Amino acid sequence: SCEDVKEPTNTADADIEEAVTTSRPLAVRGQGNYMYLDDGREILDSCGGAAVACLGHGVQEVINAMMSQAADISYVPWGFFENRAKLALAQWLSRSSGGHFQKTYITCSGSEAVEGAMKLAREYFVWKGQPQRVNYISREESYHGITIGSLSLGGHLSRRAPFEDLLLSKIYRIPACNAYRQQRQGETDTAYVARKALELENMFQKLGPETVVAFIAEPVVGAASGCIPSVPGYIKAMKAICDKHGALFILDEVMCGMGRTGTTHAWEQEGVMPDIQTIGKGLAGGYQPVSAILVGKKVFQEMEMKNATFTHGHTYQDHPIGCAAALQVQQIIQRDNLLSNVQIQGSLLAKLLKEKLGGHPHVGDIRGRGLFWGIEFVEDKETKRPFEPTLQISHRVHDAAMAPPNNLAIYYGQGCAGDKKGDHVMIMPAYNIDRATIEVIVD
Ligand code: PMP
Repeated sequence: SCEDVKEPTNTADADIEEAVTTSRPLAVRGQGNYMYLDDGREILDSCGGAAVACLGHGVQEVINAMMSQAADISYVPWGFFENRAKLALAQWLSRSSGGHFQKTYITCSGSEAVEGAMKLAREYFVWKGQPQRVNYISREESYHGITIGSLSLGGHLSRRAPFEDLLLSKIYRIPACNAYRQQRQGETDTAYVARKALELENMFQKLGPETVVAFIAEPVVGAASGCIPSVPGYIKAMKAICDKHGALFILDEVMCGMGRTGTTHAWEQEGVMPDIQTIGKGLAGGYQPVSAILVGKKVFQEMEMKNATFTHGHTYQDHPIGCAAALQVQQIIQRDNLLSNVQIQGSLLAKLLKEKLGGHPHVGDIRGRGLFWGIEFVEDKETKRPFEPTLQISHRVHDAAMAPPNNLAIYYGQGCAGDKKGDHVMIMPAYNIDRATIEVIVD
């Protein structure tokens, strides 16, 4: 009742204790690869949350850049003004693609970026006078976010379940690229890619190629199934089909992008550029909630030619403090040559994981790229049969890792495609991690 409403007071430790209603430990400080809890425990962070903290915690230069921007001006309404930090970040991102990305929209979360990319793709066809293009093709075993649009694209069944009736109807999913689960014994990569390309081509034909807006995929699948790289040639083949039918090719690099796989963009290892790309997480390394929609040449040129404006925009778009943090994070990665460290330590991580865990009777697959590695658990290695979901194996591995004396934070997920897929954990440490810390994580 109204009588129970208390005036808020200054938050004291006692209030915080009262507010702690979950069993999650209370993190109070972070430095480098370590996080510190209120009970004094030191946790080794092997995953930066969901591959977010790419420089680790407490990097003073990033904090300084944010403070300096906040002191100059903290908020600039994008609809009336430009801001320097946004312009500098957009220029950095454009250069990172050799000028391919010609426009950048800075958003706050990956979900928002994906939703924006969906809308931009549709609007591109409105500008082009092709309003009949309304269908999207995405993939099973994918994760694109939590908003209704991005959730509709994703194939994370348990996240979709409560909202299934509300999700968008013009989205059609094809199977993802998953060598461990789908590539037949003795099947070459070329043959497997051809089989996958046919799945996409068949979907285009079923919908009518002239009705498709875009195909969207994660080049290395993250949260949905645990660091699954595309088979060589797959991304290129999918892009070629989109090009053939005049549909847009969107890459969601929110999790695998911005250096995580050893190159700034994961597509650099595939030899093709997306028409639109989404990034997030490692963009600002968790120092600010920042994500982006990157607009490639084809879409930008149409926009210029029609003198069109993207019908989008939200209150915190192009936020200067977020942009300042992101730019500083990216400049540190470049200055300190951290992508080379991602490649070197990533190879070590892969080797050690395979040596120490490859022979375990319940480790079905160890796969990844750069500092983005997933371990899939199975009940039966021979048949690849996963554990019963009710056993919550990945949660239990996470809990055991976090408990003393291990004190290790590790990212976990359970087969997103219902009971057909296994549990997994993911190791995604900071790009500046050293050899000794990699060894501790694997041990
Ligand atoms: N796309 C991908 C590939 C992701 O991994 C995620 C987050 N796990 C998202 C989109 C959504 O990002 P956010 O949680 O920041 O909304």
